[in-house]
Amino acid sequence: MKKTTVLILTLALPLWLQAQTQTQTDSLSVAADSLGTPQEFVTEPGSFREGSGVGIDTLDIQDGRLLLVLKDDHTWYYIKNFERLAADSTFTKDWIPNTTDPYHVPLDSLPLRNSICLVDSASVFVCPNQTKVFSRFGYRHGRRHQGVDLPLKTGTPVYAAFDGRVRASMYNRGYGNLVILRHENGLETYYAHLSKREVEVGDWVHAGDQIGLGGSTGRSTGPHLHFETRYQGFAFDPEWIADYEKGTLRSNVFVLRRSYLNASSRYVPESLDEEEDVYAAEEKIIEEEKRLAAERAAIKYYTVRSGDTLSAIAKKHGKSLSTIQKLNPGVNPNKLRIGQKIRVN
Ligand SMILES: [Zn+2]
Repeated sequence: MKKTTVLILTLALPLWLQAQTQTQTDSLSVAADSLGTPQEFVTEPGSFREGSGVGIDTLDIQDGRLLLVLKDDHTWYYIKNFERLAADSTFTKDWIPNTTDPYHVPLDSLPLRNSICLVDSASVFVCPNQTKVFSRFGYRHGRRHQGVDLPLKTGTPVYAAFDGRVRASMYNRGYGNLVILRHENGLETYYAHLSKREVEVGDWVHAGDQIGLGGSTGRSTGPHLHFETRYQGFAFDPEWIADYEKGTLRSNVFVLRRSYLNASSRYVPESLDEEEDVYAAEEKIIEEEKRLAAERAAIKYYTVRSGDTLSAIAKKHGKSLSTIQKLNPGVNPNKLRIGQKIRVN
């Protein structure tokens, strides 16, 4: 687009928007994405780019961070101006590709209270893998689990939670195939145990872009997405910002207090051992349940007939009277009823 066109369109834009708003109030049949308030874009993630219009022009609205795309059906939407963002200190300071913690800052250097804007009129949250949390963040067996585990089938697409830039796309012994995204608000999100990584360091992604496929690589004993949220290298509970079962953000702004963070929340490779423990424990439970089910299936009952005594029933089945009594704690040997079920093994 020529500079003069940009200028004319920039100057004409407020009038054009006003005209469109007028049109919308006059006709209710106008598509919902045509000129709503920014809040609407946020509450309906992803919908703001839908509609039948085709992008015909991209305008620099002198915001620095944003560009405005005009569509041929007189609707518009914002996109991030990634070129400008690349020069922002968020994406230059402590930007070390393919490392798990590039920050190395002491906990007491962080602000006591930090309001972090998660989404705004130009961005949305997309749940990386919508499901019930299998294993939560926090201390277990004296060790800290640095994220949430979201079960999936190997090969399930995993999505970027927010707009951002790929800081790491690497293999790590503990995390397996790992993608780390840095976001404009300074947060980083980690996507671990992927079967396939589909982005490279330096790539810009929008929320909802597929960054890889879920799997069980690294120190993991079952396919799941291990998802972490970190600020300056310190992990905090990803459930504070979103409900992964519903797939929705809890609020647009998140207040991160220093007291939420802990010196031990810094990346520790050994912390993933416990993940293994949890899955091993789960497997033990499944085995125990199978054993109990097989035992239940093998249980045999004898139906009391006229003239039967408990000792006669025991003898008939090659068991001692005390064994039969232990198997039937509620049965009174002196008051057997015809038709009563007696467990005999
Ligand atoms: Zn995990």
